[in-house]
This record gives sequence, C-alpha cells and structure tokens, in this order.
Amino acid sequence: MSDAAAVVVVGGGVIGSSVALRLRQKLRGARVVVVERDPSYARASSRLATGGIRQQYESPLNVAMARYGIDFYRRFDQLTAACGQRSRAWFRQRGYLFLADDGNAERLERRYAVQQTAGATVERWTRRQVADHVPGLATDDVAFALFGAEDGYLDPREVLRGFRAMATSAGVEYVHGSVIGIEREGGRVAGARLQSAAGERVIAAPIVVDAAGAYAASVARTAGLALPIDPVRQHLFRLELEAPLETRIPMVFDPDGTHWRLDDPRTGSEAECLIIGRSRTDEPVGENFACDRSRLDDEMLPTLTRRYPALAVRSVADAWAGLYEMTPDHNALLGEHPSLPGFVVAAGFSGHGLMMAPATGRAIAELIADGESKSFDIRPLAPDRFERGERFTDGALV
Ligand SMILES: Cc1cc2nc3c(=O)[nH]c(=O)nc-3n(C[C@H](O)[C@H](O)[C@H](O)COP(=O)(O)OP(=O)(O)OC[C@H]3O[C@@H](n4cnc5c(N)ncnc54)[C@H](O)[C@@H]3O)c2cc1C
Repeated sequence: MSDAAAVVVVGGGVIGSSVALRLRQKLRGARVVVVERDPSYARASSRLATGGIRQQYESPLNVAMARYGIDFYRRFDQLTAACGQRSRAWFRQRGYLFLADDGNAERLERRYAVQQTAGATVERWTRRQVADHVPGLATDDVAFALFGAEDGYLDPREVLRGFRAMATSAGVEYVHGSVIGIEREGGRVAGARLQSAAGERVIAAPIVVDAAGAYAASVARTAGLALPIDPVRQHLFRLELEAPLETRIPMVFDPDGTHWRLDDPRTGSEAECLIIGRSRTDEPVGENFACDRSRLDDEMLPTLTRRYPALAVRSVADAWAGLYEMTPDHNALLGEHPSLPGFVVAAGFSGHGLMMAPATGRAIAELIADGESKSFDIRPLAPDRFERGERFTDGALV
C-alpha cells in the first residue's frame, strides 16, 4: 500500500508538531503527515522536560529564537482555545535567576555584557535584591545574580498536548507508526517507509523532516546519514513541600548547576512541589531511562538544603529520567542536509528544545515553503557544520 504527502515529519513531539503546524498553515491545505511511533510519548523528551523557558543566551540567534518562544507561550492558551481544544501551558513568567559566586562571577559578568548586545532582557541583581526577591535563600556567598524577568517555566505535557491539538485542528495528520527507512529516487528523498500495526508501507513525499529528538540520529542512519546527536540521560525529581512558599520563586540556578522551580498546585487538594535537576558532564551516552535516586540524595539535596535552608521537603513525589539530545556544540541541527536533498533536520536541541519549538516550527516551515528562513537565519545551525569543521558557539548553555 502506498500514499503520498507534501511533507512527512518523523516524530510528533513539540518540535515535529510545531513544524507540521506551521507547514500546514503555510502550504495551505497540502497534506502534512506526522509519523509518531508512540502516541503515549512515554519516552519523548517533550513530555519529560522541566519546562524552563529563558532568553538568557549569548548568541543573537538563540536569543531571537527563545524570545519568539516566550511570546508564543504567552499566547499559547488563546491559540489553543482558538482551535477549540483549550490547553493551558501554565506559563509562569517568574524569571530565571543565575547566582554568581567567586567561581563563576567572571563568566556571568561577561555573559551579562554579551547578552545585552545579543538582545536579551536581563538584569544584574545585587545580593540584596536576590535576598529580597527569594526570601530564605542563603546569599552569603552570592556576588550578584543575572535575572531574566520575562523568562519562566511551563507545563511540558500540556504544551505537547496543545501543540498536537493545534496541528490536528489545522489539518495535520498523525499516523501511528515507526519510520524504518527513507526512500530515495534520483539522489533525493522520495518518501518514508514505516512500520505500523497494519504492516509496512511507504508514504511518498519529496520532503522528510527528521524531528525524532534524541532518536534523530537513528532515523538519519536509515537514510545513510550520520548525524552527531547523542541521547544522554538527565534526571528530574519532584519534591513535595511541607508548606507552600510565601513567594512565587523564579527558576533558580545555583552556581554548581543545580536548578529548581516551583510546581504550583492546580487544585486545592494538591500540595506545592518543587522540580529539581542537575546535569552531569560525565553522563554516558545511551538510551538509559533508569532513575538513580542517589543523584538526588548525593548531588542535588545537599545544594538545595545549603542554598535554601528555609525550605522543608516532605517527600519525593516523583522521580524520572529522560533524554537530552546532545550535539558536539550543544546547539540544534537545523536545515536540509546537503548530502540528501529533501532530508530536513530539526533536532539536537541539547536540552533546550521546548523553548525553541515555536521558532523552529516557523523557521523550518519557511525553509521548506519559501526556500529559506527569513524570520531566523538558521544557516549557522546547518546539520553538516561539524563535517565542515564549523561549530556554533553560545556560552550560555547549561
Ligand atoms: C529531563 C529533561 C529536562 C528538560 N528540560 C528542558 C527545559 O527546561 N526547557 C527546554 O526548553 N527543554 C528542556 N528539555 C529538552 C526538551 O525536552 C527537548 O529538547 C525537546 O522536547 C525536543 O523535542 P522533540 O520533539 O525534538 O523530541 P521528543 O519530544 O523526544 O519527540 C521525538 C518523537 O519522535 C518519536 N520517534 C523517534 N523515532 C521515531 C521513528 N523512527 N518513527 C516515528 N517516531 C519516532 C518519539 O517517539 C518521540 O515522540 C529537557 C529534556 C529532558 C529530558
């Protein structure tokens, strides 16, 4: 059995859904198919993320894309309501607070200067301002802090649901299946081969978008392409608090990389929670979802207790691990692969894809429909840049 589409998108997470939504809007009625192998999204990074949204980057491109995301998420609830499937992003613009101590003060001071020229909204706070804004936080070793007032956090699951609902309502078709091969004809993409409950079939299409997140390299491999995207485990813990905090705190980044945000109760019977995480640079590459509780006890809780002695944790309400999709320079791969015309990559966000999803949808849709992205110059993020010995540098990746 064979059928045809204008574009096949592999992966229906926030990136694939955002790309498909914008494509369908731009291509006015053309058939856009998203192939998603697991509609429960159990192992999709989009569902397992912290939900942090910030514009505190150092490169003008990342700042512009993140700012677009912030504006989009601010309007998210109205956008989903307009398509009749209201989802709430629970986007709380409470800011992102990066604390500086003796160890990282020089780096953050430099970042502050660069961020301003890059167009980010960021303030430099004194120790006093930090103490006033987050009562109970230990600030004795804090030299200063960077605060992005427009930044914040949202509910990734609701955002994923909302993106899918908007795309479906715009006419995007979601197909339950696993892409197992990329069809070629005359040296370019001719479609995607998928395996589903009904068997194997090909959807013919001149364009296939690889939006398979941490799995994007394995999809590219079926097209004979080597993409430098590695799955790397990342832990998160949801801590139930003894009592609600007196202030609605920003996302706080300790100088050692431990970060936490509030998870507000949605109903009167729910307790207030905190979501906490910390990346490790020595985490081995692999599709590992095993959750190691010692990461919380040995690495995160000591920092939280020292930094936030006023906080009383009642219990660990939830614990999980998901995959970052790491590239060598920790920035996404965006654009058509020059070795295979028609194969477009939108992956490798290295732990920042939720905030970049709205801009990525717009940029990739413009690239496919108009031949280039006018809204964002994504050429420096070309998927073959490492083969050419190039990297994209942004010093504010965490
Ligand atoms: C613990 C954690 C915390 C994070 N925190 C943040 C944060 O605070 N802010 C932020 O911006 N980002 C964060 N991220 C990163 C963010 O979640 C990702 O960058 C983003 O979700 C990537 O979206 P995606 O759609 O590319 O990938 P995914 O959500 O993983 O979606 C890819 C989809 O492709 C499907 N797929 C894979 N292979 C195939 C195939 N062969 N055929 C069909 N379908 C296939 C998968 O089933 C999956 O649903 C975090 C990630 C993790 C793991």
